[in-house]
Amino acid sequence: MIKNKLPWPDNARCAVAFTWDMDADSILHLAHPERAGHLLSTQSSLRYGPEVSIPRLCEVYKELEMHQTFFVPGWCMERYPHTVDLLLEHGHEIGHHGYIHENPVQLTRETERHVLERTLECFRKFTGSHPKGWRAPVNGFSGHSLELLVEFGIEYDSSLMGDDIPYVLECSKGSIVEIPMYVTADDWPHFMHCADLSFEMPISAPDDAKKVYLADFDAMWEHGGLWVGVWHPFLSGRIPRIQMMVEMIHHMRERGGVWFATLGEISDHVRKAISDGSWSPRIDAVPYDPEPIGDLNHLQ
Ligand SMILES: [Zn+2]
Repeated sequence: MIKNKLPWPDNARCAVAFTWDMDADSILHLAHPERAGHLLSTQSSLRYGPEVSIPRLCEVYKELEMHQTFFVPGWCMERYPHTVDLLLEHGHEIGHHGYIHENPVQLTRETERHVLERTLECFRKFTGSHPKGWRAPVNGFSGHSLELLVEFGIEYDSSLMGDDIPYVLECSKGSIVEIPMYVTADDWPHFMHCADLSFEMPISAPDDAKKVYLADFDAMWEHGGLWVGVWHPFLSGRIPRIQMMVEMIHHMRERGGVWFATLGEISDHVRKAISDGSWSPRIDAVPYDPEPIGDLNHLQ
């Protein structure tokens, strides 16, 4: 099923990362710049992420002896510096996730550059370091993103969906590692139900979501792939869903041969495998179509 398998560390069969996008109330301010502060119910449900679920996740992962990657917008670092401190104290990785969760696809190249740079300043101020990785808010990886990520020394992205194992994104300025995700491992379609944000999905039982996640994991375990959960603290940080995550981890551990890693560790592993010649990645030159593909008038 998977050609050109990447050899995982310690002969593991597959790699697993539960990644968390800590959007918090950035998305509400972005959607309703004038009214967000008056939408208290929705705001409280989004603040549950940094205030309640991340402290809980830190304890749960400590007990499980696991570290994860949390993507945090710069604005959220400014608003929740205590949550950033907590994540760092527990040894988790923090990745770049825009400034206030703006969609890069809707920005000019200049604004996208400014947003990247402004958030890197937040990293300097609140973490004292430079992030290895980036996930585009709302998967909005633009035609300019790769060149800008290379310019700012970002080593990997995890927003695209072009393979089952890591691959390399290349442009004239350089390259980065892509650690792909897919919507079937995203919690949004199962749990996001919020009229103020215009998403009212039918809510899944944790067991039904688990079925979808584990179908992917079991296939990746069978064929040597990668499973990357894309979860949100305000959704999956609720108690029954954390219980479901713990059950998933027990299932994965029982199967055995699973490399649990942060995305930064996966990116380092990929770079090392490329540089020592033990593996050659598939390379995607992006953007695929820098210009529109041409006249489609014949369709009218
Ligand atoms: Zn996000």
